[in-house]
Amino acid sequence: MAIWLKEAKPAEERAADDAKVREIVEQALLDIERRGDAAVREMSERFDNWSPRSFRLSDAEIERCIASLDERAIEDIRFAQEQVRGFAEKQKESMRPLEVETLPGVVLGHKHIPVNAVGCYVPGGKYPLLASAHMSVLTAKVAGVRRIVTCAPPFNGGPAPAIVAAQAMAGADEIYVMGGIQAVGAMALGTETIASTDMLVGPGNAFVAEAKRQLFGRVGIDLFAGPTETLVIADETVDGELCAADLLGQAEHGPTSPAILLTSSEKLARETMREVERQLRILPTGEVAAQAWETYGEVIVAEDFAEMVKIADDIASEHVQVMTRDDDYFLANMTNYGALFLGPRTNVAYGDKVIGTNHTLPTLKSARYTGGLWVGKFLKTCTYQRVLTDEASSMVGEYCSRLCALEGFAGHQEQADIRVRRYGPNARRT
Ligand code: NAD
Repeated sequence: MAIWLKEAKPAEERAADDAKVREIVEQALLDIERRGDAAVREMSERFDNWSPRSFRLSDAEIERCIASLDERAIEDIRFAQEQVRGFAEKQKESMRPLEVETLPGVVLGHKHIPVNAVGCYVPGGKYPLLASAHMSVLTAKVAGVRRIVTCAPPFNGGPAPAIVAAQAMAGADEIYVMGGIQAVGAMALGTETIASTDMLVGPGNAFVAEAKRQLFGRVGIDLFAGPTETLVIADETVDGELCAADLLGQAEHGPTSPAILLTSSEKLARETMREVERQLRILPTGEVAAQAWETYGEVIVAEDFAEMVKIADDIASEHVQVMTRDDDYFLANMTNYGALFLGPRTNVAYGDKVIGTNHTLPTLKSARYTGGLWVGKFLKTCTYQRVLTDEASSMVGEYCSRLCALEGFAGHQEQADIRVRRYGPNARRT
């Protein structure tokens, strides 16, 4: 039986925080719906102290942001985008259309149609998370989305140049400097100055994630991608220094980011806990990471790999870093995770920033029912059908007619019967 050397804040306390966020978001979205731009501007002033003449950046402003970055930064963004684009293109190739004759004369098919207009949120409250621009804007572009709108909050009192460069280089059509609920609400509901979109994508803090959740239905959303979570699965083949770095590298996202060590080695668990304390003292972002570690950090010692898989599937973490003598065991057996990082040579930061897999991933156990953002999320898989012969139409029609009768659907039945009368063997041909 597993033992917890360190436990997280109790679930009831977390639920109270969630209820507060839900209420704030509900009021804010109602306000945006009623008062459009005026509400958006007020919220931007209140939450971000930001009220520019126009929230949308002009081409000249975008050019200025790009020009303010040094060549190395532009080159690094370009490299990261090439990796994300390359993998997304290969994923798109795997989504072939399908057409098949399922019965003689009956043809069924499906095709993948890109969503027309998408709103991509790029987070930037605490850190200017330019990588999120590659993950959403670029992936939408590869999918073939026609209109890509993107918002990121102001950073240090203005647009964050690196985010704007990444948004523009990824192919965004409209770039707004706007954060939080107001950005997500405006992109989904539309205002006098922003035309609404059909779908919202991208990660964000609890307010952003909750706003997307409440807007789902009115628009599509990619997934519930809230505050980052990480689970490190390790055994005695690695050391505490590496595990602590991988835990704190994600805990620094914010005070509500869980970082969990799950191990089969009590020695490694204790060594990692000591290392976390040591690294927290020297990490420049140690203050935030310490809050996350104290409140949401966990250290679990399990008996064997089978128990580790069971616990890991129950946690259903967004990121799972696996560093054991048999990483493939976890790849083969785990069922609930956003993304796996296999072996000590890779890590979550590679995935978050550059390696090419998408970093917008499911949080709060939503990995039980979805993977992360990818090109397929922007594609609607729509079916079509054709019946080529009279025989096929009347044969299917007879089944259909009887099945409609069982349901008491007279109108449906007549849709079938009229085909049987017209195309069946007793049809009067003139
Ligand atoms: P953010 O852009 O998500 O949020 C900043 C905005 O929140 C601000 O512009 C402000 O308008 C709004 N806000 C702040 N306090 C508010 C309040 N009290 N009431 C209403 N609105 C308020 O940036 P962030 O805060 O730095 O958070 C980014 C988040 O994205 C982190 O939690 C990070 O872990 C998460 N993230 C998740 C993934 C994923 O795939 N799940 C990937 C990357 C980042």
